[in-house]
Amino acid sequence: MATLRLVHLYPDLMSVYGDRGNVLTLARRAQWRGYAVEVRASSLGDSLDPRQADLIFFGGGQDREQAVVSPDFLQQKGEAVREAVERGAALLSVCGGYQLLGTSYTTVDGQELPGAGLFDVRSVPGPRRHIGNVLIESDLAGETRTLVGFENHSGRTYLGPNVRPLGKTVVGAGNNGEDGTEGAVYKGAIGCYLHGSLLPKNPWLADLLLTKALAHQFHEPVELTPLDDHLEEQAHAAVVARVRGAGGRVRSGAW
Ligand code: GLN
Repeated sequence: MATLRLVHLYPDLMSVYGDRGNVLTLARRAQWRGYAVEVRASSLGDSLDPRQADLIFFGGGQDREQAVVSPDFLQQKGEAVREAVERGAALLSVCGGYQLLGTSYTTVDGQELPGAGLFDVRSVPGPRRHIGNVLIESDLAGETRTLVGFENHSGRTYLGPNVRPLGKTVVGAGNNGEDGTEGAVYKGAIGCYLHGSLLPKNPWLADLLLTKALAHQFHEPVELTPLDDHLEEQAHAAVVARVRGAGGRVRSGAW
């Protein structure tokens, strides 16, 4: 039986604010539908075979971890990740991982970390951190849907012409707090600032990624059987109500 292959990049270094929950969610939602799932970690020193990944996850981390990961990622994995996406694999990246998949990320101390260039985005440090709940509207599934998450970043990300945003911010700073965009999409790859865990309370996005990943594995379109998502939908609705009510801000301060 074919196995869905999930690759978790740097789980020991790049996984903050529940990011690992995204991998658990993807694995469970595939298993509940009867698919076999293999989750492989790929960290410092490990290579990555672009033909052996249906879905890649790259979570967030602080500047210190990003500086550790960056050279290894560029030398050992960046090209393979790009190739996997070009071959049709799905990818989800959050915050620090998203930044390292752009063309460059400059840390708060002014260190420029070159990125893998999967996304035509570049990230620069901002004068203050954006911290708080986020609500965005996204057309990724062919109709306008909401996504909720939690952001904590000082980096500001600006989109180039070869990438489109994941959505527009309703509450929160998103990519840069200026242009109303959040995240980036290139083929089956998504970058965003939404920690959370993101996917447990945004199941439609989890299923979009799974559909893409399963189609990559089976070389044909796959229709997912529906799951009973009433708890997930309740969680989503509760966060939407809270975020709208509170204006979304937890704290937003100067360095
Ligand atoms: N160090 C990055 C920033 O502050 C990413 C932080 C994160 O992944 N939460 O912008």
